[in-house]
Amino acid sequence: DEIARTRDREFSEFRKRIKNTEQFKVTASVFDDATYGALYKLVQDGHIDAFGGPISTGKEANVYTALAGDSEARSASGQSGGDGEPRDEEVAVKVYRINASDFRDMRGYLDGDPRFEGIGSDKKKVVTAWVRKEFANLQRAQKAGVRVPNPIAVQRNVLVMEYIATEDGRAKRLNEVHIENPETAFEVVREYMRRLYDAGLVHGDLSEYNIVFHEGQLVVIDLGQAVTVHHGNARDYLERDCENVANFFARQGVDVTAEDLLATVTRA
Ligand code: ATP
Ligand code: MN
Repeated sequence: DEIARTRDREFSEFRKRIKNTEQFKVTASVFDDATYGALYKLVQDGHIDAFGGPISTGKEANVYTALAGDSEARSASGQSGGDGEPRDEEVAVKVYRINASDFRDMRGYLDGDPRFEGIGSDKKKVVTAWVRKEFANLQRAQKAGVRVPNPIAVQRNVLVMEYIATEDGRAKRLNEVHIENPETAFEVVREYMRRLYDAGLVHGDLSEYNIVFHEGQLVVIDLGQAVTVHHGNARDYLERDCENVANFFARQGVDVTAEDLLATVTRA
């Protein structure tokens, strides 16, 4: 009917618009139709507007910037006091590639998580559950007092969140910056780990590569693989996180071992 035809036309114009943005030609990435559909829905719901360039192309997901849609731009300027700097109107968009995803590995992190019981082994379902898990993990971490990107929306294989950046671009990871005061930075990360654990979560991929430095704060990113403490491997993941973090800060001259860190994080 008429409405469906109009919708189809709007959708194909939207797809063309994304495909034709300059940055997009450079990345040569091509989304499948369902991903365009998810992005389109996010646009219609007012979460994102024009698509920007890629900030990261990973094995399973690419991260892009986008202009915030109407609903986000308004709340973002409200939060920041409306100083009108362009970065307030940008969001980060993490797009998982259903086909490239190593979904067997993903299943290992989903199995045993009571929030995602019985999702089966369908590839699409596994990836979309993963994205919803990442969104839920961000919310839970935020509630626990851990600084993470504010989660904004999730749609199928696409996650929209706060873009942690300055006018110079994305915030740098800990491995990319000179840390003025490693002792203090370590104490902040240790406290974040303790708060996460208290809130029933283990990050599962915590290291200097998944912590960014922004305006004097440390921000934990990449919570897709984070599991609840009930997960059968939660202890192993936590020990690995402690090793990564302790090794990194030991190299920065901090007197710390993985065992000490684990003890502090799990102390009741
Ligand atoms: P990798 O496999 O490299 O760890 P990933 O697919 O797990 O990547 P993320 O770690 O979430 O994805 O993001 C990849 C990179 O994109 C990050 O290292 C960071 O530099 C940047 N990034 C991700 N999310 C944000 C954000 N919300 N704000 C600013 N930069 C971000
Ligand atoms: Mn990462």
